[in-house]
Parts: sequence; structure tokens; C-alpha cells
Amino acid sequence: MFTCNPCNRRYDDQASLDFHLLFSPCHAHKCGSCSKYFTSEADLIAHAAEAHHHAFECKPCGQVLNSRDLLRVHRESNLHERMTNSPVNAFFRSWPNFPFHVQLPPHKSWEQLHMFYGWDDQAPEYRAAWIRYQDALASEVTIWFGDVLDLESWQKLCRAVGIDPLPGTCADGYMAIRNLYVNLIDLIQWARTGRVDGEVKRWKNNADLFEYSIATRRIFERDVTANDKPNVVLRHLTNCMLPR
Ligand SMILES: [Zn+2]
Ligand SMILES: [Zn+2]
Ligand SMILES: [Zn+2]
Repeated sequence: MFTCNPCNRRYDDQASLDFHLLFSPCHAHKCGSCSKYFTSEADLIAHAAEAHHHAFECKPCGQVLNSRDLLRVHRESNLHERMTNSPVNAFFRSWPNFPFHVQLPPHKSWEQLHMFYGWDDQAPEYRAAWIRYQDALASEVTIWFGDVLDLESWQKLCRAVGIDPLPGTCADGYMAIRNLYVNLIDLIQWARTGRVDGEVKRWKNNADLFEYSIATRRIFERDVTANDKPNVVLRHLTNCMLPR
């Protein structure tokens, strides 16, 4: 038996459970305070108001805050600004009637979009959408990891995978993550949700990372160094972390 822990549903095999995790509306809206899942945004807000006495939601980001003051602070944060300008959000919101859930990782939203339109993998619409999706992912990496000074980028990357203490110089940063393999979609999702440090999974080598990326469809196929001035971190990511 395969059980979905958050909602206690049982499945005969892993594939059915995976399908449920990916597409069930049960997993569309998660309460940030108690990790319960809700099928609609309205239900989540009603739950938060009753159970936690907070229902201050920032729609563009999908963040639920404890108080009006925290919401105001959030609205002035880098996180909010970047979520508002997010190319991934713009891409998914550009599809008429598609119910985009901003908190889902991009590869899950892509699967849902694929299913929503019922595209055949060989269809020209599918190929065109895939290219736009990959463009959006590439721009997204730049938004979260590419527009800060180099040392900040190294430190952010170190925080993502839980390296402590943080490097004090770029050279230290390079040494710290020299043998680091991470999936770029995992990195993007970590940055987008403003999660705690050290949540991004590390892989021992490129082969393991590749296998994981393909199996979980966390596929990122753009060369982010094609930008005018890629910073050192993006260069490093592209050199050794991209599944190709
Ligand atoms: Zn479930
Ligand atoms: Zn809750
Ligand atoms: Zn916000």
C-alpha cells in the first residue's frame, strides 16, 4: 500500500500515488502554518482565519502571513518584488482559463498545463509552449540568482544547500560548492518560496543529478551563460550542474 501522508489516501502502486501527488487538487493549496492541504484558495483562507487567526494572503506570491503588519513588510521585500516580476508566473498566467497555483514548483505547473490542454508530445503547440516554458525558467534563474553581486550569489547558493558557515569571499564560495550538484528547478523553487536554509537536495555527481532530474521531470535545458554577463555562480551552475 502506498499512502499519501498529508491526506491519508491509499494507492496500490507508486505510479498512482505519484499521479495523485501531481494532479490532485488536494495538494493545490497548503497552509503555511500547519501544513494541511486544501482544495481551494477560499477554503485555505477560511481555515487560516479560523485555526490561526490569520488570513493575510499576498495573491501574487501565494504567501499567507500572520498579521497585516507582516503582510506590509512582505510587500516591501525582495521576495515579493521578484514574485511580482517572475517570468515563470507570467508564463503560466498567460494561458486562458488555466488554474495556475503559484506555490507549486514550476515542473508541476508544467505537467498540469500539459494535461489541461491535452497536448500530444509531437504537437507543434506543445513544442512551442515547451520552448516558452524553458525561456521562462532561464529568466527565472537570473531573477533569483543572477542580479546580485557575486559573493551574494555564492552565499545564497550555500544557504540553499545548508553550507555553514557561509563563505566570506568568492574564492571560499567556489571551494565550498566546487563538488556540488543541484537541480536548477529545485533551486528556483527554494528561492521562490523563501524557505529555510538547506532544503535543496544535493547530489554526489552529475550522473545521479541527471537521473533524478529526468525521473522527476525537473528538466531545465537552457544555457544560462548565454546572457551578456553571467555571474560566477551561474557560470558554475551551467558548467557542472545542468543535466544534459
Ligand atoms: Zn494526497
Ligand atoms: Zn493551518
Ligand atoms: Zn507578495
